[in-house]
Amino acid sequence: MIIQERVGIPAEMVRKKELLSAVYGVYARWIERFPLACRMGCNACCTQSVSMTSLEGEIILDFVKGTGRGKWLLAKLAGVSPGKSRERITTNQFAGACLNHQEVDRETMGGWDFTPCVFLEANICSIYEARPFGCRSFGSFVQCTADSAAQMAPIHLAVNTVFTQIIEHVNSDGGYCSAMTDILHSLVNSPICNEKEHLLPAQPVPGFLLEPHEIKVVQALFLQLGGQYSDKGMFGDLIDNFMPI
Ligand code: SF4
Repeated sequence: MIIQERVGIPAEMVRKKELLSAVYGVYARWIERFPLACRMGCNACCTQSVSMTSLEGEIILDFVKGTGRGKWLLAKLAGVSPGKSRERITTNQFAGACLNHQEVDRETMGGWDFTPCVFLEANICSIYEARPFGCRSFGSFVQCTADSAAQMAPIHLAVNTVFTQIIEHVNSDGGYCSAMTDILHSLVNSPICNEKEHLLPAQPVPGFLLEPHEIKVVQALFLQLGGQYSDKGMFGDLIDNFMPI
């Protein structure tokens, strides 16, 4: 695809992990401006619907191995079957469909599975430091309950989508998107995960679904990312290709 040739992706895994770390850091500082009600011990968002990329799965594996919990992870995965993901389309595919004015039906988008996340222990995330972007992007101005959904600023939602697209883009040279446990099953080569049909190949950014007033906010974040991450080219290319001033 032409866009992938124009917007480079770091080839080595270590550089991809550096880039992901920069993305997490810039995002964490940016969301400090929102008076979110989210507090430790609130786990309303912690369900098995959280999806991620295989790169984020590698970060979780690094963290789990680094804390000597390899067997613990295998036991967690043994309790949940592969094939959790209900999504049939990635975020970048969804963005591409919207940019081409194509409708995406509910079945393709997948539904919610409210089963608690396997990493929730005593209401606390047991892999908090390595949690994927899907978890980091949770946020609400009001405390969520069974009867009330999260409330977020539109710009917060827009930036969440852009950052999800970037993370998928960085994986689009062979990585996958899927439910968190499906990705982890595939990475540890679980014997009960012998098919990859539930893993969606990550796609390059086709463009962004931004309102004109949101573009400047995202441009500023990309400039920060370019400053944090040693390979400035990728974010400059994304601005030049998709957000010309
Ligand atoms: S990984 Fe952690 S933060 Fe993410 S859903 Fe699971 S328990 Fe919650």
